[in-house]
Amino acid sequence: DLLVVGSANADLVIDVERRPAAGETVLGGDLAVHPGGKGANQAVAAARLGAGTALLARVGDDGHGRLLIDSLRAAGVDTVGVLVGRDPTGVALITVDPSGDNSIVVSPGANSRLLPADVRAATSLFHASRVVSAQLEIPLETVVEVVRNLAPGGRFVLNPSPPRELPAEVLAACDPLIVNEHEARVILGAACVSEDPADWARLLLAKGPRSVVVTLGAEGALVGDASGVTRVPSVAVDAVDTTGAGDAFTAALAWKLGAGAALAEAAAYAARVGAAAVTRRGAQESYPTAAEVDAL
Ligand code: ADP
Repeated sequence: DLLVVGSANADLVIDVERRPAAGETVLGGDLAVHPGGKGANQAVAAARLGAGTALLARVGDDGHGRLLIDSLRAAGVDTVGVLVGRDPTGVALITVDPSGDNSIVVSPGANSRLLPADVRAATSLFHASRVVSAQLEIPLETVVEVVRNLAPGGRFVLNPSPPRELPAEVLAACDPLIVNEHEARVILGAACVSEDPADWARLLLAKGPRSVVVTLGAEGALVGDASGVTRVPSVAVDAVDTTGAGDAFTAALAWKLGAGAALAEAAAYAARVGAAAVTRRGAQESYPTAAEVDAL
């Protein structure tokens, strides 16, 4: 049903009393290694919900790559498109202080070698998928190739994270473009002339996507298309850890759209999935099953 094209990273996390300054060494707690990266997160989130999901990504022939493939398979993701190459698996080095603030260094590694040729070689995955979802932790030229390789009638969903300016060809293919507040501000740039998220949705639509979704954390989300901008109700939960909530939201939205839901209906379901994801620690470990979403 769903093809995710994107990153797979090992998140290496150490709790520290204080994040180190330049030239400083601090002692931290035990290292925790978690499967992550926006592409892998989205694929796991969709598969946990019951979506038939494949991931097109690159990892290295190393322990982190095997950890990622194992976690994808355990969630039920089709890993035939997870390519293993000579470059090391992408890594995020994360230190977290007692207030929850973090410092992160990302080494994209194999993610930066997911190239247009890999997209062209994955025709069968594209033809098996009604919806293709991407993010920006892979080269932009690869995302351009994705929109050129959609199957007839295939739908493209993009979360432009980390945000950067997008070519018109990519913007025009998005249905929807999904942004949080920070991503909306960066994509709009100088055009961000309002503090009202409903205006952001309208300004983003003017840049060419067929539809947009602006996620607003605990405030829920806005959806916009040619028929106007509407609010998607938030779900009140006790938030424990918002890591990966946006990835769960995007995955759920893409899956529901592929199953034929209207944008507002799909976004309302995605908001429930995002809310469930913030009630537990971690990213992939926090993602709910469909039964857990229904019980919310
Ligand atoms: P990102 O993780 O990309 O920053 P958001 O923080 O906007 O994205 O979260 C994505 C979605 O997850 C939101 O639109 C909302 O539906 C849900 N969500 C996030 N935080 C909360 C929260 N504290 N309470 C309820 N739902 C939340």
